[in-house]
Amino acid sequence: MVQCHGAQCGYCTPGFVVAMAGMFESCDRVTEKQVRDGLTGNLCRCTGYEPIIKAALAVDGSASPKMRDRYPTLPDADDSVTVGNFAAPATLDEAIAFKRDHPGCTIVQGGTDVGVWVNKRNYAAPAMLSLSKIASLNEIREEDSAIVVGANTSLADFETFITDRIPELARIMAIFGSPQIKNAGTLVGNIANGSPIGDTIPYLFVAGAVLEMNDGTRTVPIDRFYLGYRKFDLQPDEIITRVRIGIVRDTLKLYKVSRRKDLDISAFTAAIRLAMTGDRIDRAGIAYGGVAPTVIRLPRTEAFLAGKSATLDTFEHAGRIARDEIKPISDVRGSADYRLQLAENIMAKFWYEVFGETPARRLAHA
Ligand SMILES: Cc1cc2nc3c(=O)[nH]c(=O)nc-3n(C[C@H](O)[C@H](O)[C@H](O)COP(=O)(O)OP(=O)(O)OC[C@H]3O[C@@H](n4cnc5c(N)ncnc54)[C@H](O)[C@@H]3O)c2cc1C
Repeated sequence: MVQCHGAQCGYCTPGFVVAMAGMFESCDRVTEKQVRDGLTGNLCRCTGYEPIIKAALAVDGSASPKMRDRYPTLPDADDSVTVGNFAAPATLDEAIAFKRDHPGCTIVQGGTDVGVWVNKRNYAAPAMLSLSKIASLNEIREEDSAIVVGANTSLADFETFITDRIPELARIMAIFGSPQIKNAGTLVGNIANGSPIGDTIPYLFVAGAVLEMNDGTRTVPIDRFYLGYRKFDLQPDEIITRVRIGIVRDTLKLYKVSRRKDLDISAFTAAIRLAMTGDRIDRAGIAYGGVAPTVIRLPRTEAFLAGKSATLDTFEHAGRIARDEIKPISDVRGSADYRLQLAENIMAKFWYEVFGETPARRLAHA
């Protein structure tokens, strides 16, 4: 960084160096694309990014040992750990018992939401529980046209797994947070955090995702999990162990609207799914985020679309129903009016993107 003039005031330098070190854990040389993607979570206001990118491209990672070799796993790393009111048990039974016996206990996984509450809101939980040592929760697998994702699966591993299976959701994951956040944060954490603008949730709604508690003692469809703003159908002795997510093969589009494309919190999100026969819509699944205390389905708009032809007129009309079906609030990310307009316009945008005249279609009609 110094040789390539990538460090000036020094404020951001440690973050860049740590992010680069992370990239070289899995390779010895990086491409420019890898550098640009890998450093999206770091900001510099002195040098500009070119010297920093040059510095990463100049590194030969084979010259120094990888972190995992430098800090090998200790022989007793799989044992349960309890320190004061923090526990990282090795079995699910122990985890359930700890949560039950410590009212108000907060599960902390990647800590990318919980850490912000601690930093910004002085949040102090009476007890904290990590599931990271429970090996059975590390899984991610495909089963009967669905993906089963364990509570410990990071957003990064989820993104890699769905790249070819659910490319539309992978497109949203590519602009979700930064690599650092996605390496630490979990998919189940995004669900359980329950933010109305959680970026994975609209897809999970239209795909009929089902949450599994305590290894399957109970299952809850995701659209019944949210009972109000950050209120959940989750008992004190329950942990979300897995989520089962359908692989949508129908017509599907996802939207994340924010002031900046990369690294920004959404003002509005949407998932629109259609099952079609020819030009006719058999069924519609629509979920919006950022317009209510939780992500919501739009049953009236869905019912209107069912049985209709997929014309622009139909979708403009559907947009007006969608607008009428929600009551968004104004906040720092957008006014209620802005969100109402988005809720309406997104339906027409969807039509133009999926059915509208593309140069290829125009040629076919000529
Ligand atoms: C800089 C930054 C950028 C971000 N960008 C985005 C973004 O683009 N889009 C987006 O949607 N979010 C974003 N987030 C929010 C956050 O990264 C995600 O919500 C992430 O998925 C949370 O996962 P985690 O494992 O870190 O959760 P944690 O912070 O560990 O936990 C979050 C909540 O889930 C609960 N929980 C976790 N696991 C379980 C479980 N198994 N059972 C029951 N409850 C559980 C916890 O108790 C807590 O209430 C961002 C956060 C930061 C700091």
